[in-house]
Amino acid sequence: MSVPLLSENIQYLKGVGPKRAHALAAEGIRSAADLIAHYPRRYLDRTNVLRIADIREAVPAATVVGTVLRTRFHARRGRGSRFELTVTDGSGAFLTCVWFQRARAMANLFEEGQRVAFHGKITQFSGRWSMSHPEFDRIDDAGPKLDTGRIIGLYPGHASFDEVGLSSRLFRRILFTWFKEKGAGLVDPLPKAVVTEFHLMDGRRARRAVHFPKSREELDAAIRRLKFEELFFFQLMMGTIRNRVCRDAAPPLVPDGPLLARFTERLPFTLTPGQQSALHDIRVDTTGGARMNRLLQGDVGSGKTVVAVMVALMAVDAGYQVAFLAPTEILAEQHFRTLSAWLDPLGLSVGLLTGSTRRSVRRATLDGIAQGSISVAVGTHAVIQEGVAFSQLGLCIVDEQHRFGVMQRAALYGKGDRPHILLMSATPIPRSLALTVYGDLDVTVIRDRPPGRQDVETRLYWEKRRPELHDLMRREITAGRQIYMVYPLVEESEADELKHIRDAESGYRDVSEAFPDVQVELVHGQMKSADKEEAMQCFVRGEAAILVSTTVIEVGVDVPNASVMVIEHAERFGLSQLHQLRGRIGRGRHAATCVLMCDFKRSEASKTRLKAMVETNDGFRISEVDLRLRGAGDFFGTRQSGLPAFKLADVAEDTDLVGDTRVAARALLDVDPALSRPENRALRDYFHAFVAPDGLSMSRIG
Ligand code: ADP
Ligand code: MG
Repeated sequence: MSVPLLSENIQYLKGVGPKRAHALAAEGIRSAADLIAHYPRRYLDRTNVLRIADIREAVPAATVVGTVLRTRFHARRGRGSRFELTVTDGSGAFLTCVWFQRARAMANLFEEGQRVAFHGKITQFSGRWSMSHPEFDRIDDAGPKLDTGRIIGLYPGHASFDEVGLSSRLFRRILFTWFKEKGAGLVDPLPKAVVTEFHLMDGRRARRAVHFPKSREELDAAIRRLKFEELFFFQLMMGTIRNRVCRDAAPPLVPDGPLLARFTERLPFTLTPGQQSALHDIRVDTTGGARMNRLLQGDVGSGKTVVAVMVALMAVDAGYQVAFLAPTEILAEQHFRTLSAWLDPLGLSVGLLTGSTRRSVRRATLDGIAQGSISVAVGTHAVIQEGVAFSQLGLCIVDEQHRFGVMQRAALYGKGDRPHILLMSATPIPRSLALTVYGDLDVTVIRDRPPGRQDVETRLYWEKRRPELHDLMRREITAGRQIYMVYPLVEESEADELKHIRDAESGYRDVSEAFPDVQVELVHGQMKSADKEEAMQCFVRGEAAILVSTTVIEVGVDVPNASVMVIEHAERFGLSQLHQLRGRIGRGRHAATCVLMCDFKRSEASKTRLKAMVETNDGFRISEVDLRLRGAGDFFGTRQSGLPAFKLADVAEDTDLVGDTRVAARALLDVDPALSRPENRALRDYFHAFVAPDGLSMSRIG
């Protein structure tokens, strides 16, 4: 059985001992399982080593393997010291390695005659080829095979590892000994059927081969297998969460009741095919007796709110109440107005609960919710967090749910009433990421937009073209349109690096001066809630032609008459943020323009972001560029999204594996939800010991 074996503390392994065990534990390596999953950071492939004599020009990244010929420490008082060593690799040429930082410590690490691999940038320095602050791995006095094979694993280093002699070489020794003495006890955690179906390398062999590959091919297959395993276990966890929710019994909603019929009659437009098919999915979910757990995805302006309102009416028709949650007060207030306008005429009562609802109003609203006279309670997350008591909660709708992570979602599942759950997100995310982050959800995507919508034209301006911007604004205002202007900061900043950044308050003064005959309003997060609301309303009612703000208006705000979005210092905004902001316009019949004002000084990444904005309006393409720029961990923020930090897999790159593992995990859970079959025994043990978080016990299932 391999779980006890893998759980063994590594302190007692040959070559470890208490001091090294301590240093390893500080990096999270305690058990044999941790040790085995401490994968090489890279491999020294002897066929890829550069001969020093072959260097003709500067090289951004290279590996040189040679013998230390000479070391020299230049001590200097006051000014920094320097350590230099010269390497030769038998090609007849020399390379100099230089350290300016921690020079003394480096001097103590090297001796003449050692064999070392150096990795780094090669430059010419006073006529000689050199590397400064290269990474290095000592590979001398090799035992047979271990350090002289064609491909050698090089392990992530740490200062604390150096201090206790934990070099790559030592890792190889320790691991080699482990596999020799205990490796035979390993059991492949994946079921045979999965291994066969997806042509995976055997789990025991892969664990060894990733450290000691015999060939490039073996290494590639081992890595593919281990990536598969990481993703598979993650999918298994998400699938388990999903099963739990879906297995909850939930009372059916009424798909075609009287309230919904009256609402549809009054609706001034027909639903798009995307909206209709979303409703179809939701009807199937909510009438089968099980609990719905669906994510409705659709780009900004695709019309998710109407769909949500119709689902709300299906719940009210069935005699239930609805909680409608939004991430910000501004958005909650807007939904409250939209919903009231639609539902008041049907004789339904809508309540609003946010952090700044006045106490007397709050009391009355809470009473209405408890007694059932309020059918739909709109609010920020305060609504569920404070355990507001509903009389009969049947449906929980969460707008802009990407602002909340897997764990907050899990909290929602645990609500006593076990309502149906409809999540909505305007951040279209690439499929591979959706399959992981949303692995516990069923997903519907609205791909079309209401008819008559035009793409927003996006322009990139720098300061010199501000007069053109003012001309455009003037023209639009004269034509009766409205304008958003968004700033990165609320007020002037004292910080040096922010001194030149325009802020909303001074922007408000400048714009008011430039357009003296026009009503300009200001909204930002530091204003009192009532003032914010009043300014917002002025703009919604069309009294103010220009709204100056910070990103508080990023999500959800809906003023169809607005036709221009100006974003100051656009180079400072993230791509999805820019796209969300742009989504505030182009919601009406009028042609819309987004102007990105930006600095000359911009990073490569910001150039790519701005270019993508100019080139496309397609949220999915935008999010793919964003994912590539930021990497998956950062795309949502790992902690927030609940996406684990995979050691090998990269959901942005390994899209096929993401899809395969999802299929495989779901298929397995369909036939054996509790993993209780004998052939899944190893899987179940491994899953419980090393993957499933506390509290995610599967005992409730099965
Ligand atoms: P989002 O998906 O960004 O939340 P909204 O629900 O706010 O989008 O819808 C944007 C605007 O489009 C709203 O003013 C809404 O009334 C309108 N709308 C929604 N569906 C349709 C439709 N099928 N035809 C015309 N207009 C629509
Ligand atoms: Mg919306």
